[in-house]
Amino acid sequence: MSKSSFPIYNFNAGPAMLPKEVMEMAQSEFLDYKGSGMSLMEMSHRSPEFDQILEQAIADLKELLDIPNDYSVVFFPGGATLQFSAVALNLLDETESADYSLTGVWSVKAYQEAKRFAPNVKIVFDGKDKNYHSIQELKDSDLNPGSKFLYITSNNTIYGSRYPAFPQVSLPIVADMTSDILSRKLDISRFGAIFAGAQKNIGPSGLTVLIVRNSLLRENSRTIPTLLNWKLMAENNSLYNTPPTYPIYLAGLVFSWLKKKGGIAVMERENEAKAKLLYDFLDASEAYTVPVPKPIRSIMNAVFHLKNQEWENEFVKLSEARGLIGLKGHRSAGGFRASIYNAMPKAGVEALIEFLIDFEKSKLG
Ligand SMILES: *Cc1c(COP(=O)(O)O)cnc(C)c1O
Repeated sequence: MSKSSFPIYNFNAGPAMLPKEVMEMAQSEFLDYKGSGMSLMEMSHRSPEFDQILEQAIADLKELLDIPNDYSVVFFPGGATLQFSAVALNLLDETESADYSLTGVWSVKAYQEAKRFAPNVKIVFDGKDKNYHSIQELKDSDLNPGSKFLYITSNNTIYGSRYPAFPQVSLPIVADMTSDILSRKLDISRFGAIFAGAQKNIGPSGLTVLIVRNSLLRENSRTIPTLLNWKLMAENNSLYNTPPTYPIYLAGLVFSWLKKKGGIAVMERENEAKAKLLYDFLDASEAYTVPVPKPIRSIMNAVFHLKNQEWENEFVKLSEARGLIGLKGHRSAGGFRASIYNAMPKAGVEALIEFLIDFEKSKLG
């Protein structure tokens, strides 16, 4: 039983809500996976059952994102943050360099981590002075000679901004897509590598998906921890050691749910419609403001402020009483944030807007 008499909608940035159908499927198979008498959680990662799950998950992700044949899909344990180190260790030696575009805390952390292993990495854009509410469209002429790749965060979870279109550059782009993978159509061939922590749009936290162009999987001269070695992990089909089997199973269920819904084009339309509904309301209201310029607004994380900061505590209390969970903004950004990933139904956004209307009326009449 939930505490509230309203349906619960979880607007947390991550771990985020998963599709109800996926949770119900997992529940129905929890104790007895397809007549085996065992939970999938108890099964060997070398069993035919898990083999089938892994193969299907990879095949479905390839189909959903239209991933070209010269790319590998690899699952890693550890969150997206572990890949901040892996990016530098796999793609750079100690002397080589890459260009980092800093559009928020996650790209700053990725840059700082890369610098520990490849001290020559450079910053090509830094949005800090504008509170990360600005993103530069980068071109070849903005990049440094000799750089191996351009690193970006596609969607800035904390600030509610995103690259509306990806940089038109000839270097491979390496992208952290943790908070918007599978939410919009992508031309994978523009990217050298994409990684995403699972807990926002894919599945449980602690699992990370890597999509990497095979030509970037090189024999590296430097020492890399085995479990961060992209080439080795790809060659072992994510099975060098015991992978996070249950999270991979749940990710597979999410991929198959996305296919049933009609794929990424359908998801993108739904996501755009949900985001438009919310932003249009916020822009027209007297009580709320959106600090992010329209062209770079995220369709996954909608950040907004109350016109009067003194209302904030009351807003949190009342929204929770209405079953609307996790609206408080990130501690470093303040204000509020509604994370409306793939799994958030339109009804959740509508329930949020109803609450916002009632709250506004209670304050401004
Ligand atoms: C949440 C998030 C991360 C951190 O993911 P962990 O799995 O906690 O390491 C990294 N990058 C982006 C863009 C995120 O939204």
